[in-house]
Amino acid sequence: MSPTEPVLQVRGLSKSFGANTVLRGIDLDVPRGKVVALIGPSGSGKTTILRSLNGLETPDAGSVTVGARGTSADGAAGAAGGPGSEGGTGVEPVLPALTLDFGAKVTPREVAALRDRSAMVFQHYNLFPHLTVLQNVIEGPVRVQKRPRAEVVAEAEKLLDRVGLLEKKDAHPFELSGGQQQRVGIVRALALKPQLLLFDEPTSALDPELVDDVLEVIKELAEEGWTMVIVTHELAFARQTADEVVFMAGGVVVERGPASQVLRNPQEERTQAFVRRLL
Ligand code: ADP
Repeated sequence: MSPTEPVLQVRGLSKSFGANTVLRGIDLDVPRGKVVALIGPSGSGKTTILRSLNGLETPDAGSVTVGARGTSADGAAGAAGGPGSEGGTGVEPVLPALTLDFGAKVTPREVAALRDRSAMVFQHYNLFPHLTVLQNVIEGPVRVQKRPRAEVVAEAEKLLDRVGLLEKKDAHPFELSGGQQQRVGIVRALALKPQLLLFDEPTSALDPELVDDVLEVIKELAEEGWTMVIVTHELAFARQTADEVVFMAGGVVVERGPASQVLRNPQEERTQAFVRRLL
């Protein structure tokens, strides 16, 4: 597999809610280990893309491929020997391609398989309030992925330790700050061993003084080689972290390119106006 081959390939993704057409033929490629930031005005369809990639929304047309095209699982494609690869808590090897063609009939089993390959970090954390931190993290791997509990707990504790929250493992979400809850949200996503991490405005619900801790964790994951799609209004963060920036408006991609180019020297008028307002 070529190192630039996409882990995520989206073609012609379209979606309407009733008469409201929200996505109008979106294409997106995210190579392994790369970070794509989706930016654009509210209502432009960014969250709908993420939700479609996570099986939470069913597009009307288009296709989504997660994993490497080709016939065999490329075990060497993970960040072997990388900083997080020990103990089963690092970047996952790339799996053979899974393609969902939404123009045809997509089965619940296919949607479940897609969901299993991507993990979402939500704006409002979406932790289960009645479960402890540790229970929140192990819920998906144990109940949905049916992995051995002891192994999952050991990995979860390692991941919690990494983000400085191991001593909070028996706390409930309401006992944590927003920043801590979001770090649990990130750990919960990592514990699923996804091919792809999806972040939906991960810091926009946080008090300003809590934003940096969360962005720092995401930056570390980027450096470690995770493949990520991030919806964000934090353009300075996008400039530092993203390899590519995609500017959307009205359900189409208006402009895309290297982060420094799109954010420092945008070509399209709508991108210029948006970036000028936020930077
Ligand atoms: P963004 O993330 O760029 O702010 P969204 O993807 O959240 O944009 O929303 C795009 C449009 O789709 C908005 O007009 C929103 O109201 C609409 N929309 C999103 N989800 C739903 C839904 N479940 N039902 C109806 N309309 C929706």
